[in-house]
Amino acid sequence: KLYNQVQDLKGNIRVYCRVRPFLGGQPSHYSSVSNVEEGNISILTPSKYGKEGKKIFNFNRAFGPSATQAEVFSDMQPLIRSVLDGYNVCIFAYGQTGSGKTHTMSGPDELTDETIGVNYRALGDLFLLSEQRKDTICYDINVQMLEIYNEQVRDLLTTDEIRNSSHNGINVPDANLVPVSSTSDVINLMNLGHKNRAVGSTAMNDRSSRSHSCLTVHVQGRYLTSGSTIRGSMHLVDLAGSERADKSEATGDRLKEAQHINKSLSALGDVIASLASKNAHVPYRNSKLTQLLQDSLGGQAKTLMFVHISPEPEALGETLSTLKFAERVS
Ligand code: ADP
Ligand code: MG
Repeated sequence: KLYNQVQDLKGNIRVYCRVRPFLGGQPSHYSSVSNVEEGNISILTPSKYGKEGKKIFNFNRAFGPSATQAEVFSDMQPLIRSVLDGYNVCIFAYGQTGSGKTHTMSGPDELTDETIGVNYRALGDLFLLSEQRKDTICYDINVQMLEIYNEQVRDLLTTDEIRNSSHNGINVPDANLVPVSSTSDVINLMNLGHKNRAVGSTAMNDRSSRSHSCLTVHVQGRYLTSGSTIRGSMHLVDLAGSERADKSEATGDRLKEAQHINKSLSALGDVIASLASKNAHVPYRNSKLTQLLQDSLGGQAKTLMFVHISPEPEALGETLSTLKFAERVS
């Protein structure tokens, strides 16, 4: 398949795109996405955004509004499984607020077997595969959940009073690392993480769209005969909304948040773009996010940038800026 060839050529960085459907109750009026096929997304652009007509963007994989959670996951499954073979994997959900990042990574508010997102499916799959390999390798699987808000890292898996991590840098050694062995362990931890994340948010102040959340899975396997070990890791990152703050409106805390988000998303774009073009210098140090993930970006590590777009014509400006971000890192 052409898709496989493209992916091979692309080495360790791949870029996917998913278009959210119109939401319930919304009239399914004119969509700015005219076509999704074979990794291409066609965007209808009125003259306001340059030349009137159609712009086509190409991805390793493109999902239209009717793609199911299972279809999306099955395309990511080989990447996720490689963690058990000792690879480091980063998966980022990028896009403006409301474009479907959390839907892809976690799922909607009401979770069912059909609607659960990548996070749950990924861990479920790792449990399944490690069980299948148990006569050869014994795996330990541990998870961490962190939030980055205004360039500060917070542990989401502590029932103690939430504190900002005192640690200033790379790994967060004092963040809880919790052993998991079943899907119900994972569901309990995610619920705790979501509850902790909600602290500090109000209805007017939805912090989750202005912070990055990162579920990290650490895997260690020991071969039963030789005793040798392999380690892999996976970071599943639901990024802060990529929308540009309206400079005339944002002031105070909101402006500060927006500046931190712009800085860390552009630092992430810079890192992936320089890895994609095989630059010698990779600017990891420009944001907390890229510092935190430094060991898992580049080298043999595999990266999936999964961009999300909204179909509404009113979102076209943000949609085009998301697609430009995607072009830059591919
Ligand atoms: P984000 O995390 O990017 O802000 P959400 O994931 O919260 O966006 O999505 C916004 C709304 O759209 C939510 O109600 C979500 O359940 C719904 N939604 C997003 N993507 C899909 C999809 N592919 N299918 C059905 N509903 C979706
Ligand atoms: Mg979200």
